[in-house]
Amino acid sequence: MRIAYYNHTSAVSGAEMNLMVTAKHYTKAHPVIFAPEGELLDRARKDWLEVVPLASFNARLSRNPFRLAAGLIGMFKAGWQLSEAVREQDIQVIHANSLRAGMMASFFSWRHRIPVVWHLHDIPPKGLTGWLIRMYAMRAAQSVIAISEPVMKDYLKLGQRIQLVHNGAVLSEFPVKEKEYIREKIRMQLNTPLESKVMTIIGQIAPWKRQEDAIRALHALVQQGEENYLWIVGEPKFRLENELYLEELYRLAERLKVKDYVRFTGFREDIDEICCAADLLLLCSENEPFGRVIIEAMAQGTPVIATSGGGVSEIIQHKRNGLLYTTRNILELVQGIQDIQRNEELRRRICENGIERIKNHFSIEQAAAATEQIYSHLMTGETGTNSGLRQSREVAK
Ligand code: UDP
Repeated sequence: MRIAYYNHTSAVSGAEMNLMVTAKHYTKAHPVIFAPEGELLDRARKDWLEVVPLASFNARLSRNPFRLAAGLIGMFKAGWQLSEAVREQDIQVIHANSLRAGMMASFFSWRHRIPVVWHLHDIPPKGLTGWLIRMYAMRAAQSVIAISEPVMKDYLKLGQRIQLVHNGAVLSEFPVKEKEYIREKIRMQLNTPLESKVMTIIGQIAPWKRQEDAIRALHALVQQGEENYLWIVGEPKFRLENELYLEELYRLAERLKVKDYVRFTGFREDIDEICCAADLLLLCSENEPFGRVIIEAMAQGTPVIATSGGGVSEIIQHKRNGLLYTTRNILELVQGIQDIQRNEELRRRICENGIERIKNHFSIEQAAAATEQIYSHLMTGETGTNSGLRQSREVAK
C-alpha cells in the first residue's frame, strides 16, 4: 500500500512529529511524504522516508475579504498541485495530516479518485465556519481520524467513517547508567546544578500553551524558599503573536525575579533526553487537544502534571499515572509540584504507572497498526467499526 501523507505546511509541531514517528512504524503501508520544502521534508529525508516536494503557497485564512480570497485561491492551487503529484506516484490512499490538508486533498477527488483520510489534530472551529467544514467533511472525506474525544465530538455524525486513534510514543526508557550520564550532560549544557529540582515545559511557544503559568508556579516556589529550575523548551511558530508571547515570557521572568532559574532552550531535537534529565514535566495549556509531550515524558518515566481540559484526561488518570489541575489555577499547580517533590511514594507510583499506561494504551505500535487498519478498510471498501472510540472510553475509566 503506497500512502501519500500530505502535510500542507513544512513547519514541524506535534502533528508532524506524530506523522513521522507513526510512518516509521508501519509494517504494511509504505508512506510517501508530500509537503512543501522545509523542515518537515529535511527531517523525513534524514529518516530515509520517501518524499515528494510540493510548491509552497499561502493558505492563511483571514476575516479580511481580500486576504480570505487570496488564502482560498492558495488552497485550491495547492489542492490541484497535490492531485497532479499523487496521480504520478501510484498512490492508494491520501492521508491528509490536518483539517485544512483534508479539505485541499478532497477538492480535487474527482480528478485523482483516491480515497482521502482527514487527520484532525485540533479541536475544530465552532460556529458557521465549523458547520460548513463539517458539512463538507460529510460529503468529501472517506475516513476521518481524530486524536482525542474533544476533537472527535463534533464529527460523530460521520458514524463509522470517524475513528479515534490516539498518538503513540516510542517506549525507550534509558538504562540507569545512561540516565545518569544524560542528566549530567543536559544539566551542564543548560547551566543547571546537577542536584537541583528541574521542571520542564515543552512545546511551541504560544499564548494558549500558557508557559506563563509555569513561570508563575516557579515564582511561588522560589518565594517559599524552594529553589527550582524551569526549562522552557520550544520555539514560537506559525504567527507573529507567538513571537511576541516569547518576549512577554522573558519580561515576566525578569519582573518576577526568577530569570536566573529559567532556561529558554529554543527548539531541541533531543526531547527524550530533556525528559530524562528533568524531574517533572508541566503542561499548562488551555484546552490541549492531546499533548504528545505528555506521552513522550511518561514513556521516559518522567512524572507529568497537566491541565485537565481537552484530551489530556484520556491519557492521565489523576494520582494514578500523573496529576491533573485546573487550567490557570497556579495554587493547584504549585500544590501538585510539591506533592510530587515531597512524596516519594506518590512520585514512584506515578512514574511506574505512567510507563505501564504508555505500554498498554499509547504505544507507537498500536497507533501505527490502527492507522494501517483504516487504510486496509478503505482499500477493501469495508467501513470502520469505531472500535477506537469504544477503546478510548474504556481506557479513560
Ligand atoms: N518538540 C520538539 N522539540 C521542541 C519542542 C517540541 O521536538 O523543542 C516536539 C515534542 O517532542 C512533541 C511535539 O514537538 O512531539 C509537540 O507536540 P504537542 O502535541 O505536545 O504540542 P503542539 O506543539 O503540537 O501543540
